[in-house]
Amino acid sequence: MKADIVIVGSGIMGSAAAYFLACDGRAGDVVVIEPDASYARAATPQGAGGCRQLFSRPENVQMSAYSLDFYKSFNAQMSFDGYAAEIDFRDRGYLFTVGPEGAATLEKNATLQEGEGAQVELLDPDGLAVRFPSVGRSDVALACYAPDDGWIDPHGALQGFRKNAERLGVRYVADRVRGLELSETGVVRAELESGGTVAGDMFLNTAGAWATEIAAMVGVELPVVPMCRVQHYWLCDAEIEPLPLIKDESGVFFRAEGEGWAGGRPSFDIAPGFVWDVDRGFFANYFEETVWPLIANRVPKFESIKLQSTWGGHYAQNTFDGNMIIGQVTDAAPNFLVACGFSGHGIMHAPAVGRALAELVLDGGYRTIDLARMEFGRVVENAPYPELGIV
Ligand SMILES: Cc1cc2nc3c(=O)[nH]c(=O)nc-3n(C[C@H](O)[C@H](O)[C@H](O)COP(=O)(O)OP(=O)(O)OC[C@H]3O[C@@H](n4cnc5c(N)ncnc54)[C@H](O)[C@@H]3O)c2cc1C
Repeated sequence: MKADIVIVGSGIMGSAAAYFLACDGRAGDVVVIEPDASYARAATPQGAGGCRQLFSRPENVQMSAYSLDFYKSFNAQMSFDGYAAEIDFRDRGYLFTVGPEGAATLEKNATLQEGEGAQVELLDPDGLAVRFPSVGRSDVALACYAPDDGWIDPHGALQGFRKNAERLGVRYVADRVRGLELSETGVVRAELESGGTVAGDMFLNTAGAWATEIAAMVGVELPVVPMCRVQHYWLCDAEIEPLPLIKDESGVFFRAEGEGWAGGRPSFDIAPGFVWDVDRGFFANYFEETVWPLIANRVPKFESIKLQSTWGGHYAQNTFDGNMIIGQVTDAAPNFLVACGFSGHGIMHAPAVGRALAELVLDGGYRTIDLARMEFGRVVENAPYPELGIV
């Protein structure tokens, strides 16, 4: 098989890139290699779908703003004859709460976010009590509320990108990349598990938590590892006003979902690696012992809840500085680009990153948002560019 552009992995990143490439009209023949069309183990369907502008780095605020705009019109823009795109965008906002030690950073970040055009509101404990009476305030010095933020259904967004990419002529091939053949000028073809090959001019690595395996095929070691993250769904009979997606310094986050609530807390003590059975081992009593006390601290009415289910997925965690890595990673393969290391931000940044990848391929540089500081060069130069405050 031969293509102009070969995309490895079609979660929300690969499918967003395929969509933006196909929209442009200059991309030629785009082929996406994806072993599992059910996305059972991909991160995307497991994500909470939160989309926020509450970041400390301008690039992350700008990507979220771009993506929020995109997601707000997603249903209208991505539906076509015979297909109704549905991502159920909830514009309930985001709320960060911090104790005394986090207040100065929260305030500084809010100034940056406002400078980038985001609408944010700082609330002291009294202001928080008026706005969201159910939120616990005993340990809160300051909160930041972003009313334009919200959350989406991530699987709906992935399907919307994929179906539109296919409608525009992108070919999805059910296979797994198991090798990349290099010539003196770069990658020439992908070798597939089925025994076939796909030759191409450009190769994009959007394999999420597996991106490090793909990069190793061109001799590059990415500082990106799979980190298992679990989520829980619970019911609470108490009456609670509509709340934004709430996140605090403990890492705990939650939002309304159907009749109940979904959320969790990243397990900072777990070792990197894939974990597919989250009912056992490390996570056996995780909700009762770790998550429940934290959510009940943030919303005291959660003292009385019924846990309904627990599920897991994997962050592609950049252990170097926690932020994404985009672009070229080796001079030996200038036609091999990566977009990975999104930890818990890949859904909210997918439209912006998909577009950025299309610009890198077709224009040779960023046109919409300058992501140069998110490139691999900072790893090579040992110049971390981390988020500050709640991540
Ligand atoms: C519990 C949890 C909560 C989260 N909450 C949020 C949130 O609120 N907001 C947010 O923005 N983000 C959130 N995230 C993060 C978000 O889900 C990810 O950043 C995002 O889905 C990454 O998308 P991706 O396309 O890079 O990876 P994936 O969705 O994992 O897709 C990668 C694809 O690559 C394929 N692949 C693997 N190996 C190969 C190979 N050899 N050949 C070809 N294909 C291959 C896989 O099959 C997979 O389909 C959360 C994640 C988790 C786990």
